[in-house]
Amino acid sequence: MIGLYIHIPFCRHKCRYCDFPSYGGVESYIPAYTEALCREISTSPREGLAVDTIYFGGGTPSLLKIPQIASILQAVTQHFAVDSHAEITLEGNPDSLGREYLKSLHELGINRLSIGVQSFQPQLLRSLGRIHSSRQAVEAVENAAWAGFDNLSADLMYGLPGQTVQMAADDLSQLLRLPLCHASVYSLILEPGTCLYHDVTTGMVSLPPDDQVEKMASVVHQVFKRYGFDHYEISSYARPGRRSRHNVKYWTYVPYLGFGVSAHSFDGHVRSAHISNIPQYIRYAGRQSVLAESVVIDVNRAQEDYCFLALRMRDGIAYDDFARRFGVPMESVFGKVVDKLVKQGLLERKEGGCRLTSLGLAYGNYVFSQFIR
Ligand code: SF4
Repeated sequence: MIGLYIHIPFCRHKCRYCDFPSYGGVESYIPAYTEALCREISTSPREGLAVDTIYFGGGTPSLLKIPQIASILQAVTQHFAVDSHAEITLEGNPDSLGREYLKSLHELGINRLSIGVQSFQPQLLRSLGRIHSSRQAVEAVENAAWAGFDNLSADLMYGLPGQTVQMAADDLSQLLRLPLCHASVYSLILEPGTCLYHDVTTGMVSLPPDDQVEKMASVVHQVFKRYGFDHYEISSYARPGRRSRHNVKYWTYVPYLGFGVSAHSFDGHVRSAHISNIPQYIRYAGRQSVLAESVVIDVNRAQEDYCFLALRMRDGIAYDDFARRFGVPMESVFGKVVDKLVKQGLLERKEGGCRLTSLGLAYGNYVFSQFIR
């Protein structure tokens, strides 16, 4: 079964570190955008496909009103064969997750929330340009549990301007007091073009040194382990049985279908992306193509993508799955690469495959680059 991704590109305010396709101050487009999304979904040529995960990502999907989310879900269920146990996730920010709203979301069938907490410390939230308080973050998670959500995830960041290892540890202890069964914990990536990039490159703001960020990463791994979470992907931790079923599709080479501006799709052979211009999308969706680009993935590229996506997961690469998909043994294609990375201590062999070591986790990008021929 495939996953559906629905992109909601609106935010109240653009965060200082963010380079996602999201825009602040253009919420007036939301009603027309919702209608355009419904048109695109209802006219998708993939009608009738079996779907077992739906993910509302952004942006800030919790800026949509309940009837708007209901209309999108209705378009999806009328057009696709949605499994009765589908995982339906919505991303939200703490300032737009009040009690009544959460209750209505739950009644609508949204059964998983991913909440953007990022930090509990006022000065760090300010440095990131987040507009919610730590109190609102705590209340959002507690209110979601009160509303009936038992599959709750939060995002947290480390390596933030002015952050110490102790501050990162404090954020983790606050997070783990909340009724969460999943967390995505990211090291800050300085993206060119963002406000934070400008501030750091002009010396107005400084980031913690690399060795401190490595210590923070190690504290994150240790603390989640102590609390019984499975570290199942480079940045993802889950209680048993609570992995993100939707995100696991991306890492295990399962097809997904995206709707909305800048949404990406993968059908097993072709990767494609939608246009990013909101007014243009509103005009075209459901009436003419909204594709910006599509690339046919040849077998070499498919093998490379498969390997570095699988290595993001702690399960790593299963050689029998590789052989089944590509008709050749994994070791005959990447044997030398694996040998080299094992010698460097970045990969380890396991029964029927290989995976990142603890050291490899810190150098993921280098490891992945070695699979590109
Ligand atoms: S809320 Fe999320 S998507 Fe929106 S600007 Fe901030 S980081 Fe980006």
